[in-house]
Amino acid sequence: MILEKLTVGTFQENCYILGDEASGTGVLVDPGDEAVRIALAVEQTGLEIEKILLTHAHIDHVGAVAALIDEYGCPVLAHRESEQLLEQLPTQALMMGLRFGKVPELDGYIEDEEELEVGNLTLRALYTPGHAPGHLAFYLESEGVLLSGDALFAGSVGRTDLPGGDAGQLMRSIRERLLVLPDTTVVHPGHGPQTTIGNERSYNPFLQQGGGIL
Ligand SMILES: [Zn+2]
Ligand SMILES: [Zn+2]
Repeated sequence: MILEKLTVGTFQENCYILGDEASGTGVLVDPGDEAVRIALAVEQTGLEIEKILLTHAHIDHVGAVAALIDEYGCPVLAHRESEQLLEQLPTQALMMGLRFGKVPELDGYIEDEEELEVGNLTLRALYTPGHAPGHLAFYLESEGVLLSGDALFAGSVGRTDLPGGDAGQLMRSIRERLLVLPDTTVVHPGHGPQTTIGNERSYNPFLQQGGGIL
């Protein structure tokens, strides 16, 4: 497996290049900004990008999608509930004093529990809303790897004060869909450093017994 993290843009978002060495195929997860830098990193891996996957459609996770579709001509996939967020991107950007530019369109939807093939690797989509509508995490069981998007971070959880956010729903998503994975699962979040499920179960202050902070 090839797994490379690039931290991009003003929001320091983690874009992941994930691929299967044997077949030479790969995917991009959340290309949020700095399309040229991402494309260069892809070139260095030698992978052929066959799809772009989105954990969710917040501006910091999708900023480089349009440019990279031009580069790879590949489909962009996300949960259907991400569509409404995509449509709001230009307005969202303006509110932050930014200009979004071309809004990418989804070529297909990813369902909860859907299995996505990346060469010989299989990614399983885990529907984990709460931080954003239609949020997905991607689980690579064979490698013990989870791409957690903005649901779960090292020592923290996603914010729930943005449109469509829901604190109770986020805690349910984390407890019922993510903390049930093996403790040794390595978690690669949408921001910040990697961690493990076991670490977060034991030490994440938002997930402690009775921890109803959110
Ligand atoms: Zn987000
Ligand atoms: Zn984010």
